[in-house]
Amino acid sequence: MCYFIITMEKDSIWKQVLDKIRIKVSPQTYETWFAETKLLNLDKGVGEIGCKNRYIAHALEERYYNLLRSCLGDILKREVDLSFKVKPELAVQKKPSEFKGGKNEVPMLIPSAGFVDVDFSDKLKRCCLNQKYTFENFVVGSSNRLAHAAALAVSENPGRAYNPLFIYGGVGLGKTHLLQAIGNKALTLNPQLHVLYINTEQLLNELYEGIRKQTMKEFREKYRKLDIFLLDDVQFISGKEALQEEFFNTFNTLYNAGKQMVITSDRPPGEISRLEERVRSRLAGGLVADITMPDFEMRVAILQKKLENETVALPEAVIMVIAECVKYNIRELEGALNTILMYVKTTGKMVTVEEARRLLQRSRRDLRKVISPGDILNIVSEYFGVSVEDIKGKKRTADIAFARQVAMYILREFLNLPLIKIASVVRRQDHTTVLHAIRKIENSVRRDSTLRSKIDEIRTLILQKSEKGNVSVFY
Ligand code: ADP
Ligand code: MG
Repeated sequence: MCYFIITMEKDSIWKQVLDKIRIKVSPQTYETWFAETKLLNLDKGVGEIGCKNRYIAHALEERYYNLLRSCLGDILKREVDLSFKVKPELAVQKKPSEFKGGKNEVPMLIPSAGFVDVDFSDKLKRCCLNQKYTFENFVVGSSNRLAHAAALAVSENPGRAYNPLFIYGGVGLGKTHLLQAIGNKALTLNPQLHVLYINTEQLLNELYEGIRKQTMKEFREKYRKLDIFLLDDVQFISGKEALQEEFFNTFNTLYNAGKQMVITSDRPPGEISRLEERVRSRLAGGLVADITMPDFEMRVAILQKKLENETVALPEAVIMVIAECVKYNIRELEGALNTILMYVKTTGKMVTVEEARRLLQRSRRDLRKVISPGDILNIVSEYFGVSVEDIKGKKRTADIAFARQVAMYILREFLNLPLIKIASVVRRQDHTTVLHAIRKIENSVRRDSTLRSKIDEIRTLILQKSEKGNVSVFY
């Protein structure tokens, strides 16, 4: 065994380990965490792994320790332990083209700058499609894999793959992007198709216009001749009886003719309130796919993808700071990236990690101007059906205590309030109670996916409220 270690070079051992890992994880994960690592030492049964920065060292230790350990153990044919060391010189300057993550390396089919097909662009406009939303620039990860695969299948085989395809998920997670990408791709493959993208609120306006101007016949014809009907944000149909009636009839006509419908919503069909049962069952009658929050790796991959089209490159550590600061909304992630790029472009200086963090924190302070601790208590209280008085009160029944702990956690996460301040908001005696509550929820969030999605939903409610105040939310 000893003979084995001596004769095998560290580099060649590491190459074999990386080859093993490469087939076990996604290309994105590999590129983000493993590509720039090195086996520095192999002494007394401990493999010392060099990483280009502390984020990577930390992530490898937290998340990939067992994987690395078992792969290295397999190659060495014995048990090993691992340690991690930061070695900045391991960073290789990548060319932008190397950053293409996942399966998105299909060449652009849509005529783009330099090769503008005027008729085609016109056609896209008439279909209300925006060429900037394509499958090629959509990053795929565990949070959207099913929705992406289904959307791609539908664009290649409209009416035959899944019908309807219903995609739901929180604000800024890529629903509109996918819906538009379906239209763009389907039209590229077959420019004869009748495709239409419309938001449900716009559809409602058209319907009211149709009723007012007595042009309902045209309204109906317009929708019933479509091959692909892309309806965004269908949750706005809630309580709109006339629209539900029209939708139901249009749906049946299109469905019976084998035409494709793709519908998005911020919640699953079962949770849209004031919806006729027959409409609900139509919405849920095909494939229902959700999009959830992107994980850290995917956020990094999205930032790298966006940077491919930029003239400015950012250091890897800054990209990681952005991905760390903005967790729940890809639109906000783009906003944070733009904040940093703007700084680099206007100052002509490269941004440091500390500056990036400061710039992004400033945006978080802006949030406090539109969302008050009271707003957060109201949202949490409404969500759990527990009164604000009870959250601030002394009762300790399980549901009240839980809502109170979640409120403290969100006050910290969202507004980054000091513990003392949180204690005074929820009328607790001292900040250790607050700290205890926050820790407890943090731990549960890691283990319990139901709690995670509840917190995601509360975040979405807060985001919706903050959007009314027109502020960016990085947190
Ligand atoms: P939603 O409709 O779910 O609120 P959008 O589709 O408008 O969200 O997405 C918000 C922004 O984030 C858009 O600019 C979109 O291009 C971008 N985006 C969302 N998901 C992805 C992804 N997986 N890869 C790249 N960009 C994405
Ligand atoms: Mg949208």
